[in-house]
Amino acid sequence: MAVPKRKTSPSKRGMRRSHDALSVEAFQECSNCGELKRPHHLCAACGHYNGREVVAVGL
Ligand SMILES: [Zn+2]
Repeated sequence: MAVPKRKTSPSKRGMRRSHDALSVEAFQECSNCGELKRPHHLCAACGHYNGREVVAVGL
């Protein structure tokens, strides 16, 4: 079995991991009100999710 000759240094490990971070695909339009909302999150403007009102938003 192939085995690394040297322990990976903290610097090299950090360099490798510099590309690992996940970017947030920030926002989508709400299908109900058109406001920008985060994907898979309740719309903060109208309280709708997946086409129905989940939380009543005070007017
Ligand atoms: Zn909305």
